[in-house]
Amino acid sequence: MRALALTGDRKLELVDLPSPAPPAQGEVQIKVKAVALNHLDLWGYRGMAFAKRKMPVVVGVEAAGEIAAVSPGTSGLRPGDAVVMYGALTCGTCKACREGRDNLCENVAGIMGFHVDGFARDLVNIPARLVIPVPAGVTLRDAACAPIAFATVQHMLFDNARLEPGESVLVHAGGSGIGTVAIKMAKAIGCTVITTVGDDAKAEKAKTLGADHVINYRTDRFEGAVRKLTGKKGVDVVFEHVGAETFNGSLLCLKRGGRLVTCGATSGPSTTINLMQLFQQQYRIIGSFGASMRNIRESLAKMAGGLLPVIDTEVPLADFERGLARLESRQVFGKIIVTF
Ligand SMILES: [Zn+2]
Repeated sequence: MRALALTGDRKLELVDLPSPAPPAQGEVQIKVKAVALNHLDLWGYRGMAFAKRKMPVVVGVEAAGEIAAVSPGTSGLRPGDAVVMYGALTCGTCKACREGRDNLCENVAGIMGFHVDGFARDLVNIPARLVIPVPAGVTLRDAACAPIAFATVQHMLFDNARLEPGESVLVHAGGSGIGTVAIKMAKAIGCTVITTVGDDAKAEKAKTLGADHVINYRTDRFEGAVRKLTGKKGVDVVFEHVGAETFNGSLLCLKRGGRLVTCGATSGPSTTINLMQLFQQQYRIIGSFGASMRNIRESLAKMAGGLLPVIDTEVPLADFERGLARLESRQVFGKIIVTF
């Protein structure tokens, strides 16, 4: 079978691997159909000194496919079923897992496609408990965006920031994979959405997604624009993932008692914050990473209800690297999908 392996920093190779054995007890075998690209792929591709992993490692952190085979005694999943997979090898038995807080598993064995072999291969065996059926009417291409892009945003906005209908939210990088999802999810419950983009073409596209106000952060200071748009009050929630370049400006955009939720630091990991401002303004800063299995189900249900991902490009497996280059260049608007 085909597999795309990272063999060193910025070195990807399409290799021929033996097909996996029939699924062991408790496992299913999945024929991968679509892999969605994420910044996590870029971090892995560029190399991260602190990441404990051995190479080669099969890439692909987010995917959808079809059940090819099930182990005896598997219930609820049959060959041919469309599914998505939870992308971290959680233990399933610790307190966090038992409580459905899968992304806080105490014994996680790694993120697939990053620490351990991922989904960019024809066939993969995985525990059946990490597999989630795709509802009728949702394509595998769209479903491939559920485990990370959709579920991360679902977890950030609703579990963590507790975004309510009628509130205002600033979504950074509205053209990014998760930015496009955040705009759509916030608009779907009737929020006022302000977003930032890096060029005017993206501004037009962000408006078509429903953004009420779009700020070109290259020509306008976003914190000033947000203060003006909100009559100096600020927004209820900031959706952060840009990091060092925007973090302090993001805090300045918050209302008193506002919530900032962050899941990324693409522009750099370090910043300083004004602690007086933090407590006097009663800000809540919430770190968010990954999502729960429930968030993936909620995401797929939203897709079935018509809230679909914005797809930037589809590329074949052999062009995975071209997809990564597009992601890295920030030209992207929405998600890049690698098809099989
Ligand atoms: Zn666990």
